[in-house]
Amino acid sequence: MPEKMRAVVKTEPGPGAALLTVEIPQIGPKDVLVRVKATSICGTDVHIYEWNEWAQGRIHPPQIMGHEFAGEVVEVGSQVKSLKVGDFVSAETHIPCGQCIQCKTGQQHICANLKILGVDTNGCFADYVALPEVVAWKNDEDIPSELASVQEPLGNAVYATLVTGVTGKKVAVFGDGPTGLFSVGVARVSGAAEIFAVGRHPFRLEIAKKMGADIVLNEHEVDVVDAILTATEGIGVDIALDMAGSQDSIDQTLKVVRKGGRVTAFGIPSGPVQIDLANGVVFKGITIHGISGRLMFDTWFKAANLLKSGRLDISPVITHKLPLDEFEKGFALMTTRPKMSGKVVLLP
Ligand SMILES: [Zn+2]
Ligand SMILES: [Zn+2]
Repeated sequence: MPEKMRAVVKTEPGPGAALLTVEIPQIGPKDVLVRVKATSICGTDVHIYEWNEWAQGRIHPPQIMGHEFAGEVVEVGSQVKSLKVGDFVSAETHIPCGQCIQCKTGQQHICANLKILGVDTNGCFADYVALPEVVAWKNDEDIPSELASVQEPLGNAVYATLVTGVTGKKVAVFGDGPTGLFSVGVARVSGAAEIFAVGRHPFRLEIAKKMGADIVLNEHEVDVVDAILTATEGIGVDIALDMAGSQDSIDQTLKVVRKGGRVTAFGIPSGPVQIDLANGVVFKGITIHGISGRLMFDTWFKAANLLKSGRLDISPVITHKLPLDEFEKGFALMTTRPKMSGKVVLLP
């Protein structure tokens, strides 16, 4: 076992990060140490890398970045019972306190004292990551590392899409980022009748087609609301997922959802937004579900089962695999406009 490892570290307040040689993390009695096999870049990592306003208020450098990964357990703490050396794991990134009302009533994913891996703790853009046993998820050995590494955002999509049933329903997905693309796939394999995918990047809308969208709509080219209402004989869709979190996408979900339908609010606007509560929500009698994280661990079982069965093929969304050392290239891929990437995976 080496003493040092490589890690992508946010060294100081400000944009960028550096690949450094650092100590391998020490684990506590309830933790495991994992050798990272694959780790993927999330939008949250981009915010930290670019050092946006949210990151400035939340992140305390120096800190190792990253929270999505798959790897092999190489050491277990003295009180760890459910895992052993050699296990192939990923992690729920929401680390719950176990004591608050949410934690005690089966809602750990929205714990009052939530800590997030790689945001409030050292993360996994490294050769090794330390992790509390309580958030470790044991993977099936047959799932390739790069696919296993994206189960955290895949879980967002599973939870957001399947919070109520989609079988036989018409579904509109707003947002062509990875969670939107995953949602299209989840809706497809779960028996949605017709899927509309709405985005603004042709490269990603092509992926949406591969994931099973029946109709893809580029919001720069068509009036999305008009197109969906026309295609649904003026009725609208049963379910509208907002995976984008912009003022426009929120307005559009409320306009295209049919009366009595369901809206999922997952995308995070950069500030307060306005909605037409009377016409968009009250008179329509719709239900809005706020989705944060993943149900622990109901969502993980569903995501893992879908992957293992082979029915849900998420490989079209994983567009790039790079060595960890090339993380700067990975971040550049994530920020280039128009978007020419889906999920970018780094391999330590
Ligand atoms: Zn993530
Ligand atoms: Zn809690």
